Amino acid sequence: MFSKILIANRGEIAVRIIRACREMGISTVAIYSKADKNAMHVQLADESYCVGGNRVADSYLNIPAILTVAVESGAQAIHPGYGLLSENAKFVKLCEQCNINFIGPTSDMIAMLGDKDMARKTMRAAGVPVTPGCDVVEDLEVAKAEAERIGFPLLIKARSGGGGRGIRKVEVIEQFEEAFLSASAEAKAAFGDGACYIEKFIHPVKHIEMQLLCDKYNNIICLGERECSVQRKNQKMIEESPSPALDEKTRKKMMAAAVKAAKAVNYVNAGTVEFLLDMDNNFYFMEMNTRLQVEHGVTEMVTGLDIVQWQIRIAAGARLTRTQDSIFTHGNVIECRINAENPEKGYRPSCGTIRRLHTPGGSFVRFDTAVYQDYVVPPYYDSMIGKLIVQARSRAEAIRKMKMALSELTIDGIDINRDILAEILSDDRFVSGEYTTDFMVDFEQERKDAYKIEKESRE
Ligand code: ADP
Ligand code: ADP
Ligand code: MG
Repeated sequence: MFSKILIANRGEIAVRIIRACREMGISTVAIYSKADKNAMHVQLADESYCVGGNRVADSYLNIPAILTVAVESGAQAIHPGYGLLSENAKFVKLCEQCNINFIGPTSDMIAMLGDKDMARKTMRAAGVPVTPGCDVVEDLEVAKAEAERIGFPLLIKARSGGGGRGIRKVEVIEQFEEAFLSASAEAKAAFGDGACYIEKFIHPVKHIEMQLLCDKYNNIICLGERECSVQRKNQKMIEESPSPALDEKTRKKMMAAAVKAAKAVNYVNAGTVEFLLDMDNNFYFMEMNTRLQVEHGVTEMVTGLDIVQWQIRIAAGARLTRTQDSIFTHGNVIECRINAENPEKGYRPSCGTIRRLHTPGGSFVRFDTAVYQDYVVPPYYDSMIGKLIVQARSRAEAIRKMKMALSELTIDGIDINRDILAEILSDDRFVSGEYTTDFMVDFEQERKDAYKIEKESRE
C-alpha cells in the first residue's frame, strides 16, 4: 500500500480524497493556488505546496510544478479527483515515466476513451449499442450528406469534447454548416482538436450511467446506476439511485453492457459508462468517464462501498474482494449539487465571504464540502461548493428527507441554488420519476410563465 499520496485537486473532492487517505493511514500532500492558501484541503493535508497563481492554468493544471512537488515530497501516487488533470492522458503518461502511480486507468486507456470517436468504434465492435450516427467527418459536404442520412434533429459533437463543450444541436439542414463550423472552432479552442462527428438526437431521453470498479486482474464489479437526467446546459444538478425509470430487466442488460464496455478496453480502476435510455427502453453508449465522478457519493451510500478507498487499493495492486453477487443496494439515495450561483439571475456565479454556515446532519445525511464559516469563495473556480446526499427506505421518503435537509442548509454571504433545488423536488414530474433530460428546460419555462401571470394579475 502507498504511504503518501498527492492530491492534485481542490475543493470538496480534494477534501473527500484526503479523508479516504487518512482513514487508510496514508499521509497526504496537498497542492494549492495562491487564492486557495486558506482552503480546507490545505488545512487537512499533512503537507501542502503552492503550485502557482489563481487561474487553474497556472496552478492546478501546472504539470511541471505538480510533478516536482510529487517527486520532492516523496509521494508514491497521485489522485487527480475529477475535472482538471483527471482525464489528461499526457499528464498520466508523465506520471508513468516518473514512476508515480496515477490513481486511475493508464494513459493509453484515457487517450482511447477520451477520443469519443475511437470509443464509439471500439464499443460498436465489442457489441455495445452506441447512439446511431457517423464517425469523424472532416469535409463539410461529406458531413452534410451524413447529416441527411442520419436525419434531424441531430447533434454535432467534438471528438475531444467534454464538460458539455463542443456540442451543437441542429434542427434543419439550413443550420448545419454554421453549427458544424462553430462546434469545430469551439473544440479547437478548448481542446486543441476541432474534429467532429454526428449523432442522432435521441428524444425524449434519460441520462443513466453505470458505476464500475475494475482491478488489475480482470475482475469487474458494477455498482449499479445513477439517474442524472436533471441537467441544465449539460451540467447535472440532481442525481439519484436506483433510477425510478429502470425495470429489473433493463437494469441487468445495462449493467452487462457496461461490464462489456470495460472488458473491451481492459479497463482498470473506477470508471463510469454513460448511457442514453429512450422511452422504449433502448439504451445507447454515450461515453466512458475514466475517473472518479462528481456524483460517486450516491453510489457509495446506496451500496455501502467506499469508491475512493477502492480506487487507491486497486492502484496499489489489490484485488477486489467483492464479487457481483455480494453487491446490494439499500433504499433510495438522492444528491443535490449545491452551487454558489443565483438561479434568479441566470445562474450567475457568486463569490465572497461565508458569514454564517449551518450544514444539515442526522442519520443518513451526508454533506461533502470544503467551505467553512468565514471562508472566502474565490471567483476563479467551479461554482459547485458542496454535495448534499440523503438516503431513505423509499424514494418518496428520500425526497422528503432531502427537502428537510435543504431547508436546514444555511450559507449566508453568497448566493446559492438551494431554493430552486427544493422547488424541483416538489415538481410533479420529478416526483413521478418520469422526468427526462428536457426536465429543466420545461421547468424553467413554466416558472417564467407563472411569474408573468402573477405579475400581470398584480398590475
Ligand atoms: P460528472 O458526471 O462527474 O459531473 P462532468 O462532465 O460534469 O462529469 O465533469 C466533471 C467536472 O470536470 C466538471 O467540473 C467539468 O467542467 C469538468 N470537465 C469535464 N470534462 C472536461 C474536460 N474535457 N476538460 C476540462 N474539464 C472537464
Ligand atoms: P460531455 O463529454 O460533454 O459530457 P456527452 O456526450 O456526455 O458530452 O453529452 C452531454 C449530455 O448531452 C448528455 O448528458 C445528454 O444529456 C446529452 N446528449 C448527448 N448525446 C445525446 C444524444 N445523442 N441525444 C440526446 N441527448 C444527448
Ligand atoms: Mg458526459
